[in-house]
Amino acid sequence: MKVLVTGAAGFIGFHVAQRLLARGDEVIGIDNLNDYYEVSLKESRLALLEPQEGFRFQKLDLDDRQGIEDLFADEKFDRVVNLAAQAGVRYSIENPHSYVQSNIVGFLNILEGCRHNNVEHLVYASSSSVYGANETMPFSVHDNVDHPLSLYAASKKANELMAHTYSHLYRLPTTGLRFFTVYGPWGRPDMALFLFTRAILEGKPIKVFNYGKHRRDFTYIDDITEGIIRTLDNVAMPNPDWSGTEPDPGTSRAPWRVYNIGNSKPVNLMDYIQALEHSLGRTAEKEFLPMQPGDVPDTYADVKQLKQDVGYQPSTPVEEGIAKFVDWYSGYYNV
Ligand code: NAD
Repeated sequence: MKVLVTGAAGFIGFHVAQRLLARGDEVIGIDNLNDYYEVSLKESRLALLEPQEGFRFQKLDLDDRQGIEDLFADEKFDRVVNLAAQAGVRYSIENPHSYVQSNIVGFLNILEGCRHNNVEHLVYASSSSVYGANETMPFSVHDNVDHPLSLYAASKKANELMAHTYSHLYRLPTTGLRFFTVYGPWGRPDMALFLFTRAILEGKPIKVFNYGKHRRDFTYIDDITEGIIRTLDNVAMPNPDWSGTEPDPGTSRAPWRVYNIGNSKPVNLMDYIQALEHSLGRTAEKEFLPMQPGDVPDTYADVKQLKQDVGYQPSTPVEEGIAKFVDWYSGYYNV
């Protein structure tokens, strides 16, 4: 298969590209290599991908309409995994415009590319943040979620709605995956595990928001990667009764799907920190702070639908995942 992976220099995109290459797929990776976090980390990920047979990289911005049109015209992608986005809830409070450009305009360019080039399946990143302060636990894909608490969350919800229209109007099979706090080797320097590890090793205090009271459904990267690839392989074919020339009245059979993908075992932030302290063999100095604007109190994924349709559910315990992250961090930064 020839697969387009957007955000291939990013945390999740890098892991997905590695796995697709390992099984013999051809992977075209794109990324704008922006400086939201250290560019050298993105370059190091790419340096591992680039020598591999079957991998090609193009520096390209999702919001470059002509560039994306040309890419789809030049390559004949069988399937697309869209992971490029401006990530981060807190950053979206100060920098709203980049979320509209990358996550909405950019996503539209990907939808158009898929539509005009008969891509068999578009799998794209959504987020647990679409649930806002949902009080029903665990969060189910059947819950009504239209109260996002940040522009980041709103952009992810918008992606699901945009994908719905393309699945409905053009019979494009799309699947949105709502990732729940992903962590692990090659992880993001703006996320808690990375920030905590760096601060603890430098002997600096860690910032514990919401006084450490929230719970997160931390999900290990290998489980997310496995889930993305299994979902990519699991195509919901368009309604076979539909002629393709008239609008399909049977919208319930539209090939539009959204799943949660999370560990389904929420962990209290203080227990997460304790597991990290154990792995590092050091105690953190903690600075307790109030909840940040845009943050949500708890997250907890109901993964029944993913398990039923795709036959997969994440399972790595956080202690194991944190230990693997610490191993990677120590090797990468030589500490
Ligand atoms: P990441 O920031 O490491 O990766 C995203 C990559 O996309 C980066 O390399 C960045 O340079 C690139 N990018 C950003 N805007 C772009 C644009 N306009 N054009 C081209 N490239 C662009 O983040 P990640 O953690 O790997 O996240 C991947 C996806 O999963 C994102 O859509 C993110 O919103 C989503 N997500 C991540 C998490 C998580 O916990 N990591 C949780 C929920 C959702």
